Amino acid sequence: ITERIDAEAGQPCESVDGCRMSLYINAGLSAEAELNAGHIGSGIGLYRTEIPFMLRERFPSEQEQVELYRQILESAPDLPITMRTLDVGGDKPLPYFPINEENPFLGWRGIRLTLDHPEIFLVQVRAMLRASIGLKNLRIMLPMISTVAEVQEAKRLVNQAYFEICDEVCESGEVLQRPKLGIMLEVPSVLYQLPQLAKHVDFFSVGSNDLTQYLLAVDRNNTRVAGLYNSYHPAVLAALYDIVQQSNENQIPVTICGEIAGEPAGAILLMGMGYRRLSMNAFNIRKINWLIRKVSLAESKQLLSLALTSQSHEQVFGHLNEYLETKG
Ligand code: PEP
Ligand code: MG
Repeated sequence: ITERIDAEAGQPCESVDGCRMSLYINAGLSAEAELNAGHIGSGIGLYRTEIPFMLRERFPSEQEQVELYRQILESAPDLPITMRTLDVGGDKPLPYFPINEENPFLGWRGIRLTLDHPEIFLVQVRAMLRASIGLKNLRIMLPMISTVAEVQEAKRLVNQAYFEICDEVCESGEVLQRPKLGIMLEVPSVLYQLPQLAKHVDFFSVGSNDLTQYLLAVDRNNTRVAGLYNSYHPAVLAALYDIVQQSNENQIPVTICGEIAGEPAGAILLMGMGYRRLSMNAFNIRKINWLIRKVSLAESKQLLSLALTSQSHEQVFGHLNEYLETKG
């Protein structure tokens, strides 16, 4: 099977009835390994900037960040690279920035922390912008958004950084492209505010890992309740379906970058829902590309309606596995 999958690598990601899908990668450390391995897909849908931060002993300086981001942006200058601002807190602590909280997943994490420390946010955004001088592929994404006010405040800071860097580069005659700005949809409150949020951003990206945790009230890392944590819970699927429909109504491009996007059953259901951009770990790209080329949009829609009316994730898997077996 791997040979058959590899043989089709690089073939267009299109279903048998002509539904075109774009596959992107989730990256963290350095994107280069993935890029060089030829698993880049259509670009980077999620670059988790906290990972290089977690591997250090102190906050990286602006210049250190510029060098890191520059290397990533340059490694695929013609493809979009979506860099997420620091998403620490929760399960991702920084050794040099200890946080003690009773409920870290409901606490000081992602955008909440960086808006309280605008100096951290500004240094990072300035570094992304400086890294993108002369390039056109940077997109900036904000994690853990739960209110419109957070987007407005973050956007104000991004604009401030943009004009600062513009002033700096203007003397040298270089060009600084304004990056597209997007938000992660991963806190359930945003499902009920998409039209308002859509007014402020260029794109959405669904973080189904956290959305699952927050919708089901199940800690994504607690083994005691791991049996309850499942992105195929019909309620989570209904939320994902709602998001893509609302995004289309509001004409905002939407990607999904949680684990479900890189899983065969998930990719089929998401295609049936209307998602056309999936972002996943690089090693899943070939498999999902191969699978999409074997299935039809019509069948994926039928599977979706079975899934949405199922009682449990087990039942959803039952339907999907039966179907996947017919595809080898
Ligand atoms: C998610 O929450 O689905 C996501 C992609 O982000 P992370 O796993 O880094 O929280
Ligand atoms: Mg997340």
